[in-house]
Amino acid sequence: MRDVVIIGSGPAGLTAALYAARANLRPLVIEGLTAGGQLMLTTMVENWPGYRDGIMGPELIAELRRQAERFGAEIVAGQVTSVDLKGPPFTLHLNEGDPVETRALIIATGASARLLGLESEARLMGRGVTTCATCDGYFYRGRPVAVVGGGDSAVEEAIFLTKFASTVTLIHRRDRLRASKIMQDKLFAHPKIAVAWNTVVEDVHDVSKGEVSGLRLRDTVTGEARELAVDGLFIAIGHTPNTSLFEGVLEMDANGYLLTHDGTRTNVPGVFACGDVQDHVYRQAITAAGSGCMAAIDAERYLEGVPGHAGDPAAVTASQTPGTPS
Ligand code: NAP
Repeated sequence: MRDVVIIGSGPAGLTAALYAARANLRPLVIEGLTAGGQLMLTTMVENWPGYRDGIMGPELIAELRRQAERFGAEIVAGQVTSVDLKGPPFTLHLNEGDPVETRALIIATGASARLLGLESEARLMGRGVTTCATCDGYFYRGRPVAVVGGGDSAVEEAIFLTKFASTVTLIHRRDRLRASKIMQDKLFAHPKIAVAWNTVVEDVHDVSKGEVSGLRLRDTVTGEARELAVDGLFIAIGHTPNTSLFEGVLEMDANGYLLTHDGTRTNVPGVFACGDVQDHVYRQAITAAGSGCMAAIDAERYLEGVPGHAGDPAAVTASQTPGTPS
C-alpha cells in the first residue's frame, strides 16, 4: 500500500514527486508511455527560471528526476492500463506486474500535442518543428516561419510569432478559420502574416540536414504542389489531454481536460490532478511544475485525515519501536 502514487513524469509529476518525497510520503511515480513528457520533444528551454542561458528539455527532466529521487521518490517505467477509483484505497493496474494500491493519487498524465503524422515532421521535431510558439518563437528572430492550424491556438501563435519572425505563413486545410472573430481580424490585419488557404503540408525539408529549410505544400482544391521556404514549422492543430483512463469517473470539460477545484482536487476525494491534463490555457513547463507542487501539498493535507499513512504519528511511532511490525 502506497501513500501517494503519481501517474506521469513530466514537470508536473516530477515536481509533485519532489514535494511528496520531502513530506516523507515515499511517492511512487509511474512514468507512462512518454517518459518525461513534452519537454523530451524539445531542445533548448529558455524560459525555465533559474537557467539564465537555458537548458535542454531532456536535461531539465533528468535534473528534476534526480532531485525527486534524492529525497526518496521511486520512479518506475510502466503504463497504467486501468484504474479503480472507488476507494480509497485506489487500485492501479499496470501493463506489467502486480496492481498498485494507494491512499492518494496524483494524475499528471499531461496532454499530447496533435501532430500531422508525417515522418519528416517526427524526424525534425525539436529541430525546427515545434508545438510551442511561446517556448521556441524566440529562436526565429528575423527568419520566415509557418504555422499549421485554423483554430484559436494557431491564430494566437501566428500573431505571437510576428514579434520575432520576418514572415509568418498560416497554413490551413480549409477556406475558413475556426478561430474567434476578433482573433481573425487581428490576423488578417497583420502585415507580416499571409494565409495559405485550402493547403496541407505534405513534407518537411530537410531531414538529411537535421533542420527545417522548407515545406512541400498541396492545394486541396486544385491539387497543385508548391514549395515554401521556412526555417521553422509550428504545429498548432490542438492538444489531446491524456484522460481516457478516467472517462466516466472523473469530471472533465467538453474537450476531456480534468476539472479541478480548491487547488488540484478532482471530484473524487484523494485524487488530485496537475499539469497539462487539467490546464489547456497556460501549458507551460513552469506552470505544470507549480501545479505539481500544489498537488503534492493537497495530497499531504488530505492524508493527514487518513489513518496509517507514513506521516501519521501513530504509524511513525510504530515503525520506530524496535520489533514492532510497521
Ligand atoms: P481547435 O480549436 O480544435 O483547432 C484545431 C485546428 O487545427 C482546426 O482549425 C483544425 O482544422 C486544424 N486541424 C486539426 N487536425 C488537423 C490536421 N491533421 N491537419 C491540418 N489541420 C488540422 O484547437 P485549438 O486551436 O488548440 O483550440 C482548442 C480550444 O482552446 C478551443 O476551444 C479554443 O477556442 C481554445 N483556445 C482559446 C484561446 C483564446 O481564447 N485566446 C487560445 C487558444 C485556444 P478544421 O478547422 O478544418 O477542423
